[in-house]
Amino acid sequence: MTVGVLRRTGAPSDLLATIASMISMKTLGEVDPEIKGLVARDLQRQNSHIHLIASENFTSPAVMAASSSVFTNKYAEGYPNKRYYEGCQVVDEMETLAIDRAKALFGAAHANVQPHSGSQANMGVYLSLMDPGDTILGMRLDQGGHLTHGSPVNFSGQYYQIVAYGLHPETERIDMDQVRALALEHRPKVVLAGYSAYSRHLDYEAFRSIADEIGAVLLVDAAHFIGLVAGRTVPSPVPLADIVTATTHKALRGPRGGMILSSAEYASVIDKAIFPGGQGGPIENQVAAKAVAFHEASQPEFSEYTDQIVKNASAMADHMLESGVRIVSGGTDNHLFLMDLRSIDEDLSGRDAAKMLDRIGITLNFNSIPNDPRKPFITSGLRIGTPAMTTQGMTEAEATETARLIVAALRSHSDEDALTKLAGEIAVLAAKFQPYPSDWAGHLS
Ligand SMILES: *Cc1c(COP(=O)(O)O)cnc(C)c1O
Repeated sequence: MTVGVLRRTGAPSDLLATIASMISMKTLGEVDPEIKGLVARDLQRQNSHIHLIASENFTSPAVMAASSSVFTNKYAEGYPNKRYYEGCQVVDEMETLAIDRAKALFGAAHANVQPHSGSQANMGVYLSLMDPGDTILGMRLDQGGHLTHGSPVNFSGQYYQIVAYGLHPETERIDMDQVRALALEHRPKVVLAGYSAYSRHLDYEAFRSIADEIGAVLLVDAAHFIGLVAGRTVPSPVPLADIVTATTHKALRGPRGGMILSSAEYASVIDKAIFPGGQGGPIENQVAAKAVAFHEASQPEFSEYTDQIVKNASAMADHMLESGVRIVSGGTDNHLFLMDLRSIDEDLSGRDAAKMLDRIGITLNFNSIPNDPRKPFITSGLRIGTPAMTTQGMTEAEATETARLIVAALRSHSDEDALTKLAGEIAVLAAKFQPYPSDWAGHLS
């Protein structure tokens, strides 16, 4: 029974007050033990594995607290000081702070912190720059690009003309000659650089000069590596790109969400494309959590963290190369790399390998490798990323040890006794590097 119903039935007001507080202040565990139990189980899963999904991370309690704050209650369609709802004084201050922090952190003239996700950020940019049927030049999904870069099962491939570049067959690095040739031939409105599964730096100068040559907009989708940019561990695309899209939940270690950085020239078209173009009310509790993440990412410790991410990825790749595993492009400059499982066992698919590893305590994802003979839902590769394990507190020694455990498990993937023994070793290692206290209920209690 709600307070409103009681009021209409004439219940005394002190009783109402008590019931009101009982109703509104009940904990998650009191209201919904089922969901609370599932939260506890996923905490246990997160705390007991070594996590190598390149796009995942562990947020701080501060980020989570902002994410679950009363800002979840506020409707704030529009932008600070230009809202369609009253009562936005505080939310305006908060969103302005988030914007200012993003601009300062990345040295950008403009920031839009409202995209609900990386995909929404890309959609916003496409809406702001192109008409349906216009051409975009992006990276092939099966060679490291993202669904929103023109996959036929995604809006991007359905509404826009997609021309895709790939990797040089020998170096397995982006073939910039091919990018230029395709740009000159197809004259796309947007040249898109960015990836979900590529282990090398992008050549922003080359992309910039190609875009300039054909009068295209240069968009960099930094969803995966914006955290490394924030920590100054990898070169920033911001000075050379017209527009940079990103997520906030990957290496940046913030809440799930997206953002767009741009030069002043694109500020107003981008803002219009996000709202009212592609979204309604911003998720202001997530905007608050993004602001916290930007603050955390601007601290000197964050640079140490992102440097360590890259050191860990190199340590793992080096160990694997020494063990005779083929790594796509021969190594990594960033937070991730792709293993070619055919160099371990021709018959072992990425999907089976990933399932087996998760079962013994190492969580990662299967991924197509360049010119993969297997389908995208089977694959011959594994993608390994180090942002989450680095947040767990692991450094090179544990990264190397993790690489050894992975290779050992893959080599003995059909030997249950060997896998059981490895699972024990993995459990011991993971237990030393739990991201959260075992009984942590955070602010959810
Ligand atoms: C993760 C990613 C996205 C999409 O982010 P979501 O928040 O999952 O929508 C877009 N582009 C690239 C390159 C990505 O890696």
